[in-house]
Amino acid sequence: MSKELAQSARKRFGQNFLIDGRVIDAILASVNASPTDVVVEIGPGHGAITEGLYASGCDLTLIELDRDLIPGLLARYVTKAPERCRLINQDVLKVDFTQLTAPLRVVGNLPYNISTPLLFQLLELGQNIRDIHVMLQKEVVNRIAANPGESAYGRLGVMIQATARVEPLIDVPPESFAPAPKVDSGVIRIIPDADKRARIQSMDMLKTVVRQAFSQRRKTLRNNLKELINSEEFAHLEINPQDRPERLSVETYVHLANYVSQREGGL
Ligand code: SAM
Repeated sequence: MSKELAQSARKRFGQNFLIDGRVIDAILASVNASPTDVVVEIGPGHGAITEGLYASGCDLTLIELDRDLIPGLLARYVTKAPERCRLINQDVLKVDFTQLTAPLRVVGNLPYNISTPLLFQLLELGQNIRDIHVMLQKEVVNRIAANPGESAYGRLGVMIQATARVEPLIDVPPESFAPAPKVDSGVIRIIPDADKRARIQSMDMLKTVVRQAFSQRRKTLRNNLKELINSEEFAHLEINPQDRPERLSVETYVHLANYVSQREGGL
């Protein structure tokens, strides 16, 4: 079976199908879906995770790009329980999630090439998303969950942690998939946090400040942020301009962006 899956996999769709029952069970246990949940699975593939989600009795929307996988998914889930299962044959990045019933629980073993833009798109939906459980490259999980001072800490971690709580859950080796990817993977839980979001005055300004701050990791904040913050302002904000960007906490980045945004008259 795993040989057949590996042979049928399409590289351009990022297809690495889960074949490890323990990993599948661990993902399902982490999600712990119930009949009252509204779940969206991104990239169900041959249904490795779908099967357990379907069995939970939840309301289930499947979003799958590969046309060849549609008949199987329709037969196994949608036609059996059309009142609570539906399938969208589309690129997930083009799906309008606001048309789905909120709050959504999002689950997916994601094609790695779309994982970052997709997470940002989902987090823009704020409280319409209850939680997200996704399989990502381990390196991306590490970056999302990194703490200040760690080498993996950067733009991705700051931007996601600024609006959500994150929790790495499971490490997944290449052998758990057919075909085996070249890299390790991991499952992470991301929970949008309304209080964190409310503290950010301008998302655009936070993006600008964080992008500028990390534009050259080896340089100081003074250098990277010279177009946004002067020496007196660093002193006023009690930020050491000689620090490197990875020293600042997520809260400090939010504080910094709010300051600039207020100074500019609120964006
Ligand atoms: N969930 C299955 C599993 O765990 O075995 C398949 C995971 S495989 C890594 C990724 C799945 O996402 C594939 O079924 C692929 O066809 C689908 N996919 C790829 N790009 C997509 C996109 N832009 N939108 C929706 N689905 C996509």
